[in-house]
Amino acid sequence: MAGTSTAAQRAAATTTKWVYLFEEGSASMRALLGGKGAGCAEMTRAGLPVPPGFTITTEACNAYYTSDKRFPDGMWEQALDALRVIEQKTGKRLGDASNLLLVSVRSGAQFSMPGMMDTVLNLGLNDETVVGLARLTQNERFAQDAYRRFIQMYGRIVMGIEGRAFEDELDKAKERHSAAADTDLAADALQDVVKTFKQVVRRETGSDFPTDPMKQLELAIGAVFSSWMGERAVVYRDANKIPHNLGTAVNVQTMVFGNMGDDSGTGVAFTRNPETGERALYGDFLINAQGEDVVAGIRTPMPITELERILPAVYKEFTEITSRLERTYRDVQDVEFTVERGKLFMLQTRTGQRSGFAAVRIASDMVDEGLVTPDEAVQRVQPDHVVQLLMSRFNPAAKETAIREGRLLTTGISASPGAAVGRAVFDADRADELGTAGEKVVLVRPETSPDDVHGMIPAQGVLTSRGGKTSHASVVARGMGKPAVVGAETIVVDLKARAMRVGDRVINEDEIISIDGATGEVFVGEIPTIPPPPIEEQAELLRVLEWADERRRLQVWANADNPGDAQKARELGAQGVGLCRTEHMFMEEERLPVVQQMILAAPKANRLRVDTERLKKEMVEAHQAKRTELEAQLRDIEEQMAPARADYEEALGKLLPMQREDFKGILRAMEGLPVVIRLLDPPLHEFLPRHEDLLLEVAELRRTAPESSELAEKADLLTAVEAMREANPMLGLRGCRLGLMYPGINEMQVRAIMEAACALKREGVDARPEIMIPLIGHVNELNRVRGQLEQTAKKVMAEQSIQVDYKFGTMIEVPRAALTAGEIAETAEFFSFGTNDLTQMTFAFSRDDAEGKFLKRYTEEKILPANPFETVDRIGVGRLIRIAVEEGRQRKPDLEIGVCGEHGGDPASIEFFNEVGLDYVSCSPPGVPVARLAAAQAQLAGAYSTK
Ligand code: PEP
Ligand code: MG
Repeated sequence: MAGTSTAAQRAAATTTKWVYLFEEGSASMRALLGGKGAGCAEMTRAGLPVPPGFTITTEACNAYYTSDKRFPDGMWEQALDALRVIEQKTGKRLGDASNLLLVSVRSGAQFSMPGMMDTVLNLGLNDETVVGLARLTQNERFAQDAYRRFIQMYGRIVMGIEGRAFEDELDKAKERHSAAADTDLAADALQDVVKTFKQVVRRETGSDFPTDPMKQLELAIGAVFSSWMGERAVVYRDANKIPHNLGTAVNVQTMVFGNMGDDSGTGVAFTRNPETGERALYGDFLINAQGEDVVAGIRTPMPITELERILPAVYKEFTEITSRLERTYRDVQDVEFTVERGKLFMLQTRTGQRSGFAAVRIASDMVDEGLVTPDEAVQRVQPDHVVQLLMSRFNPAAKETAIREGRLLTTGISASPGAAVGRAVFDADRADELGTAGEKVVLVRPETSPDDVHGMIPAQGVLTSRGGKTSHASVVARGMGKPAVVGAETIVVDLKARAMRVGDRVINEDEIISIDGATGEVFVGEIPTIPPPPIEEQAELLRVLEWADERRRLQVWANADNPGDAQKARELGAQGVGLCRTEHMFMEEERLPVVQQMILAAPKANRLRVDTERLKKEMVEAHQAKRTELEAQLRDIEEQMAPARADYEEALGKLLPMQREDFKGILRAMEGLPVVIRLLDPPLHEFLPRHEDLLLEVAELRRTAPESSELAEKADLLTAVEAMREANPMLGLRGCRLGLMYPGINEMQVRAIMEAACALKREGVDARPEIMIPLIGHVNELNRVRGQLEQTAKKVMAEQSIQVDYKFGTMIEVPRAALTAGEIAETAEFFSFGTNDLTQMTFAFSRDDAEGKFLKRYTEEKILPANPFETVDRIGVGRLIRIAVEEGRQRKPDLEIGVCGEHGGDPASIEFFNEVGLDYVSCSPPGVPVARLAAAQAQLAGAYSTK
């Protein structure tokens, strides 16, 4: 495996240090030596009993890949030198049967990738040394078993032989020797197996099993390097966002044996309980066993505390070592150890993975113990831990069982965390009916729209086959704190048959399903859930969040559309409402008919307005005869259009008090804090029945009841819906364009906001409304709307004889708005980035379709590094945001700037928003605690990186 590089490269490579004895490394060399190597190095330096060994660096692994899978020059020689040192230290030699040294060859990357790469144990065994092992362990059976396991493991991992080939032979041997299990095979039977295994190697590879321990070592090192790019490892890194260019280190370490009698054993332990965080050793131990036995679960291990009774001296030493390790690393350690004939050996130490509960308890306790500072405690808790603490989740063991039983139906997009179980129900009305009656249901739809909301409210969770992270289902479910899986494209929802299909599997209405909104998994049948304790009972979490609050610069606001959500958000620490989507208030069942009335009348009523204004203008300039003619025309139009105008005004008149009460409730809940209320935004057809459904209904009525008044009504509705249809509604009559076309709607909403604020002020409540105009692309749009609305606001205040403070601002969600932010800031008192639309329009990716149709593949195949609807695209969309912040503040230094797109709750995006200097992020109410932590972490990361 010598390299074929140039002389200069060779010279450089030979001088590179590729291999470090454990005593030469330290904890700080994790990137170079990997977690395991750095851990063994640190323990060795600290004088702890670690079996001697050495680490080949991650750089060597990377060099191996760049030089066509050859060891870099000098590496092998350095490894041999290190081996010599180990041999001297242990007084044993690799390949020497009379003084046997066996080694393990283990992978170990910078970030833990448990079980994803390869390991070879007992390296150095061959026909001669196995005799030495039998003598050493005084156990012939063990030696033969270790040898056959070695050939099997080595054959599979290093020589690439299918595991099945060995297992088949083992099964045959068991049959021959009438053995029920592997453990029933006696020493001579195992010797037999060894022979057969060697034949398998010859048959499968055409060459003999390597008996030379040096050759074994060389090939094993190469195999561990290669396992870095093994499929399992690559998939794991993708899932955990670990870069592929880090490489793995290789640790070659003296084997010690825990199976040398009753004064030997092996175990794994955490320095604190990783489930609860309790400050007590936690782990398992097996007497007279090897590590594999613990992992394989063949024998039931005993709790680590039992060791105190069995080997008290070892236990004492072990507890001293583990508390020392905790003090050194100032964090919970997950250790592996072996006792060989009463002597303790530490094999590994690494930072222990922990549950959310454990994370906050450990962080809080360690501050009290003086081990970490509050800054560090805030950084030790991950945003995902906080999600875990506040959402229900499935019992992990039950979930695993369900997967084993083949009950995992499919995996969609994880849209809103939490676990939900219930009867699959395929329409919102039934979900509403059953849910309100106390039944547990999961609403399943192809996608949701505003008229499904009443079914979402009482449902346990929501599942859709289409849509992405910013689709209606995601946004609404997240706001409600309800689990949701969306875009599960393999599911075919058949609304007619009231069933869903995945392949040939059919789930009918009322069958129980379980969905995991944190992972996107959909299961058939019930999986028991674990509900979270109320936040006010989670003292450690509250303490960590308080520390976070003291450290963050970004404020955290919430997106809330009703008083209940606003109240909840405030309780969770929200410092304002960053987005109240008024259209969500239009969805309530009793309101929808009024909203529909308004929409259907709007075009006619407004045409009247435009026409009459034109005529009035013409009349001023016209001569008498012409004027009389125009007056007649005007009367005509007015008469014709009067019913539409009456309808429109009646509907607005009915909506006004409803909206006023909504706003009063929210403003009251957020007393003393800002509340950003956005005027109506979505395309109006979203409030009307679907065109396709209407077409079918009308066709059916034409057949069955051609004379009915129902047909006449539906046909009228169909005409209206058809008139409003747009090819690209997302780019159509929505946002501020609606208000410009139909000013009555905006006027009604502004009036409702101002009347609510005035009434509250009179009661002594400090209401702080901020009126927000959506989807501005040109400053003139904003100027025009502002002109209209200021008039209404002033009028209301005059009527009420009271003044209230209010702000008037806009969303920045169209690229042109971001690029012309300087101009826009002249009119706007605040900006709020609508990153959902801004992402949609910058990428030209439909936010409703892209994730299901192609984005998943894009991220899997690394065409994009991440889903831009989940984590803000810093380079593209982020650039627009930077421009808008910079130019907006240049024009108006005290411009208030926040973000209210779904990215406002995403920790990675929060880091970016902190960096670009926004004032606040606004996220769903249940997301507020997570955002508080993430904002503090962003601030701390920034502070440390500039030091
Ligand atoms: C946005 O576009 O980011 C936004 C908050 O508005 P909506 O999601 O309601 O379009
Ligand atoms: Mg938007």
